[in-house]
Amino acid sequence: MKADVLITNATIVTMNADREILSEAAIALNGERIVQLGPTADLAAAFPKAEVIDGAGKVVLPGLINAHTHIAMSLQKGITLAVPDGLYRVMWPVEKSLTAEDCYVGALIGGAEALKGGSTTVVDHYFHMEQVTKAAIELGLRGVMGHTIMSRLGPITGERELEEGIDYVRRWKGQHPLITPWLAPHASDTVARDWLLRLRDVASEEGVGLHLHLAQSTLERSYIEEQYGMGCVEYLDDIDFLGADVLAAHCIHIKDSEIDLLAESGAHPLYCPMGHALGGQPARAWEMVQRGADVLIGTDCVCGNNEMNLVSELRIAGASQKQLTGDHTAMPAGKILEMATVNAAAAIGMGDQLGALVPGYLADLIMLDFDRLHAVPNYDLHNNIVYTCHGRDVHTVIVHGEVVVRDHQLQTLDEAELAALAQEKGPALIRRAVAKEQDLAALWDAA
Ligand SMILES: [Zn+2]
Repeated sequence: MKADVLITNATIVTMNADREILSEAAIALNGERIVQLGPTADLAAAFPKAEVIDGAGKVVLPGLINAHTHIAMSLQKGITLAVPDGLYRVMWPVEKSLTAEDCYVGALIGGAEALKGGSTTVVDHYFHMEQVTKAAIELGLRGVMGHTIMSRLGPITGERELEEGIDYVRRWKGQHPLITPWLAPHASDTVARDWLLRLRDVASEEGVGLHLHLAQSTLERSYIEEQYGMGCVEYLDDIDFLGADVLAAHCIHIKDSEIDLLAESGAHPLYCPMGHALGGQPARAWEMVQRGADVLIGTDCVCGNNEMNLVSELRIAGASQKQLTGDHTAMPAGKILEMATVNAAAAIGMGDQLGALVPGYLADLIMLDFDRLHAVPNYDLHNNIVYTCHGRDVHTVIVHGEVVVRDHQLQTLDEAELAALAQEKGPALIRRAVAKEQDLAALWDAA
């Protein structure tokens, strides 16, 4: 057996079937695979030629899976924050001015931020997905990617987008080890019923998943209620759209009975706690978990988060459910870690490859600084990972065996250049949008 990378002297949270935590341990990687875990002395003797990464004072975790993102939206950071119905009044009008180049640059910046915040995989959908995919590959970020499809309301609609969403899946299936193409209808109200039916069929034929927004706003709920006389989840259930291959972001404006429909269908509600909190609209994530739904965690976009930082998102994921339910035992830290690792891996169809540190699995992992002032002493590891760590504690990130963040620095691209690009391209996009959209100019003045 061979290994080319050996992380030594670390605390390793394996998330294996027994949820073992190893102390003073090592993990050996060869190429894109995990080879072995065990005591540092044993593995150092077994793999003397491997490059050693010192894990002393660090915690190694499986790479986190960010179950709902739009990494390309980095140029629009914070623009919907505190604007009522900001999605409709700000985001979509701005997006009418988006270029393919904006999406590429935005995805480089957002993807870099996601990696540095501990996400090794993003489940993402957006416009100009070819550009976003190119950016993810350049960064070394794993992606479950979909081209956003809308038939009404949005900035980019029309039959061509439907065909492109399907073509995207057929073009990328099996083409790159980092990219898993999915279908991405935007939401229950923005995609025509016959398109949803067709996409459901194509997903089953191609064996790919469906990633959409569901019951994310009162406008979505009232439109579906007016059109079909039912709730958004009921509607998707009624047209046989739901299933274990469906990831549904937000699920905020739903009835009690719709929680049961989500649970029974196996569809995965995506909980984006920071965006929900800043939007003043909590999702009943813990209630969903207790009623049998497999809830996953995402950061969503930076328009209303305003970070793409999954390690930090874990903290608010727990805190906001404790507050919402009035129960301090709600959403325990161990459960939160499962949601962002093993559960998410299974939901994207990679439960036997990702989400745990097990020999034979893909070498996707993160290493957190755990000896800094704010993280010591350490009496309960799960709680301290969730409640003391920040994204900025992410020291090392390895995806598919490649070290893409080392000593807090992105290795694949120059961070200073990316920041300069954000400063240049972001305001240019906003200026173009304001020049085109009168209502937007008024909103901007008011802000
Ligand atoms: Zn979203």
